[in-house]
Amino acid sequence: MNDTIPCYPLIGIGFGPSNIALAIALREHGLDSLAHNALFIERQPEFAWHKSMMLDNTHMQISFLKDLVTIRNPKSNFTFINYLHQKNRLNDFINLQTFFPSRQEFNDYLAWAASHFESQTHYDEHVFDIKPITEANCVVALEVYSRDSKGKERVNHTKNLVFGIGGGGYIPTQFKKFIHDQRIFHSSEYLTAMKDNTTAKRVAVIGAGQSAAEIFMNLHGRSSEHNIDFIIRANSIKPSDDSPFVNEIFNPDFTDQIFAKTELERQTFLKEYRQTNYACPDLPLIEEIYNVFYQQKVRQQQRHNLRVSTEIHAVNTDEQGIHLTLLNRQNGELKVCSYDAVILATGYVRDQHKEILAPLAKYLGDFSVDRHYRINTTAEFKPNIFLQGACESTHGLSDTLLSILAVRSQEIGHALQSAKSKNIATQDYALIE
Ligand SMILES: Cc1cc2nc3c(=O)[nH]c(=O)nc-3n(C[C@H](O)[C@H](O)[C@H](O)COP(=O)(O)OP(=O)(O)OC[C@H]3O[C@@H](n4cnc5c(N)ncnc54)[C@H](O)[C@@H]3O)c2cc1C
Repeated sequence: MNDTIPCYPLIGIGFGPSNIALAIALREHGLDSLAHNALFIERQPEFAWHKSMMLDNTHMQISFLKDLVTIRNPKSNFTFINYLHQKNRLNDFINLQTFFPSRQEFNDYLAWAASHFESQTHYDEHVFDIKPITEANCVVALEVYSRDSKGKERVNHTKNLVFGIGGGGYIPTQFKKFIHDQRIFHSSEYLTAMKDNTTAKRVAVIGAGQSAAEIFMNLHGRSSEHNIDFIIRANSIKPSDDSPFVNEIFNPDFTDQIFAKTELERQTFLKEYRQTNYACPDLPLIEEIYNVFYQQKVRQQQRHNLRVSTEIHAVNTDEQGIHLTLLNRQNGELKVCSYDAVILATGYVRDQHKEILAPLAKYLGDFSVDRHYRINTTAEFKPNIFLQGACESTHGLSDTLLSILAVRSQEIGHALQSAKSKNIATQDYALIE
């Protein structure tokens, strides 16, 4: 290896909740060398949790007890309760009588936790490439390439990589060729993109999930009079199921059960429980939306449309607007509607790591992972690559959520510890920077 290039015992790509939880778990579980010498690379200029969806009046969809640590270590300094205590709000929070803090408050909690790792985090840098370092026909380490917003490139070496890069907005095929049109954007860019669309009056919101529902209410509440077409493929908007027995699938020990199943059993299971997480807003939000449409009827003024059983058949654009050909799935009728802006609340894909890891693809097979989230590699590939948040098909529906962060990070920590004792000489952990 080149001695002038910094070498880290661990590099975490992305510093969202998953890798913050990992940073804490390493510190709390005696993995001192890793904990203090790990590097985290985050593309945003500072910590922010789903910044463009930080809407007023939105709340967590999960109990604050499923914070970064409590389920693993309720005595941790990084609990949400300790955060409240540090901020002098514990009593006031208790008076709220809720398990579901606002998203603003949870973002502040996460930023507070992230601030404890400032010296180990390179913000404003995104990782774009990873190359193998080979010795005697074996890949012994990795070169991690990142670039900051001014275009400056850096390279760092490591033997252990943990991806925690979250999801990328899913763009339906019909919209792909229009994605540079700033009038068409994904929900993950909502607040930023709306600043470029301040005069948009006719707006289509496509999707039936929590983000679509939150955006509908946010647009409805804006002073400028938006006319919204809320376009959904299903016959109605159905609520998420967070009832207690069903919620047990998000318990950390459930991961063993799902991982032990065959691929077919897992697929059947994920399909059966889909309505805990996908295309299913919270019931109170659905009730608010219903009330908006009801009040329209009372006033006999139709400001918005709810277009159920509707698919996007074709997309065209010109200076006058975006013209969507809508297919009514019930009667097969086609109808063209025109908009000033189209918001794709169409969910997320979680395979961006494959693009970054493309130069290593021949060692990584089908990118499948073991129980400890480590990609199964060929024998000559020695480094460890872990995936956080990209293992739903093998580890269950909790994988993309906050539910298991505290425990998953400890499991990855254990895997790193055993890899260290098995494969890697201690001197290799020396920090060169
Ligand atoms: C609006 C919204 C609300 C949600 N609310 C909840 C909720 O209430 N409860 C719940 O359980 N789940 C919720 N989720 C699910 C969400 O996935 C998790 O809450 C959580 O954000 C997952 O953390 P993460 O660190 O894996 O991913 P993310 O939070 O997405 O963080 C990934 C980080 O990686 C960075 N990154 C990406 N690519 C690169 C790169 N190439 N180089 C460097 N950095 C990179 C990103 O900038 C980002 O900061 C919500 C999701 C959304 C979109």
